[in-house]
Amino acid sequence: MRKRTRVNHPPPVGLPPGNRALVDPIYQSVKFEFASVGETLKSQRGEAPGFSYSRVSNPTVRQLERVLAELQGRDDAVVTGSGMAATAGALLSMLRQGDHVLGFVETYAPTRRFVQRILSRYGVSLTLLSIEDLDGVERTLAARPTRAVVFESPTNPVTKIADIARLTELAHRHGALAVLDNTFAGLHNHGQYEVDLYLHSLTKFASGHSDVLAGAIIGRAELIRPIRQDHILLGSLLDPHAAFLVLRGLKTYFLRYRAIAETAQTVAEFLAEHPAVARVHYPGLATHPQNALARKQMQDFGGVVAFDLAGGERAATVFCEALELFGLTASVGSTESLVMAPQMLRARDLTAEQQRISGVVDGTVRLSIGIEDADDLIADLTQALERAGR
Ligand code: PLP
Repeated sequence: MRKRTRVNHPPPVGLPPGNRALVDPIYQSVKFEFASVGETLKSQRGEAPGFSYSRVSNPTVRQLERVLAELQGRDDAVVTGSGMAATAGALLSMLRQGDHVLGFVETYAPTRRFVQRILSRYGVSLTLLSIEDLDGVERTLAARPTRAVVFESPTNPVTKIADIARLTELAHRHGALAVLDNTFAGLHNHGQYEVDLYLHSLTKFASGHSDVLAGAIIGRAELIRPIRQDHILLGSLLDPHAAFLVLRGLKTYFLRYRAIAETAQTVAEFLAEHPAVARVHYPGLATHPQNALARKQMQDFGGVVAFDLAGGERAATVFCEALELFGLTASVGSTESLVMAPQMLRARDLTAEQQRISGVVDGTVRLSIGIEDADDLIADLTQALERAGR
């Protein structure tokens, strides 16, 4: 073999039987071959296992899908290039022309906007209620055939808790699918409920290191099967290298989530005692209006702590800019602590009444707690609150 050929056909180095890598290799290959046309066709028809093309499936990606399904307590999962790709793909796959969706004001804004901007082109309509308005949910579902109820818990940013048992029961009674974006609560929470599809932005707690975008749709096999078929055509499957980064992040998922939730509780309790703070939103506080529901539904209360500064937007701006350890940026669930100012939290496309329901006021700040030392974070918050109060 000449050298020009050799570089394209390097000698294969397989592992002998009984010898395995502790960390599985990344299958950074788009194509996989079989020795014969017959075997290729059998695999393509699903009559034999195997891989052919990574937009369809890939071993590294498949490993991630299997572990995610197990963590959330469901049969199967499809992983996508971002959390939004999971949400958009699940809704696109599930909905038909003219369908009605019940969503909530407190939902992650791009989820709502995907229905309003893109699915509306196909006649899909959206009713937006408050996540606290269970009577409204019942009335709406009784009045209109509805394909899906799409919700989150805890909500962003003021950590309202959805009554998951009640919402899924109402959805099913009226023939709708219950779809929960479970990003904030994490893969270890809410598996006990009759949720049909779980959506996750793996960009957040699952991968945890702010270095990869990814998403997942997790559910029963019969719901995931058609979604997977559609995703092959949408071309939204996650890249194997990104899947590897998520798999690596997942190794410390439970350690990180626990550390983050513990520090978040400490931070929330500290803020609740501070004179510059008018109100703290954290489900783990006894003063949270749905603390009892959160305790019933969740094993822990997550890493997002929101609070309202008594000094309003001016104080909030000074506070956010004075913090030294908290990155002034979007997203949650990273190893680093992050902060968002009220100007970054407000959804300007909501009506005045919807903005009221969203719970974001002039002084609302959102913290995403990381895994730094709690005392260092409290010291940083103390100095920033002091500057904000001047
Ligand atoms: N769902 C929730 C609750 C989120 O907070 C986010 C991102 O902030 C997403 C979905 C979208 O995730 P991604 O940024 O990975 O597309």
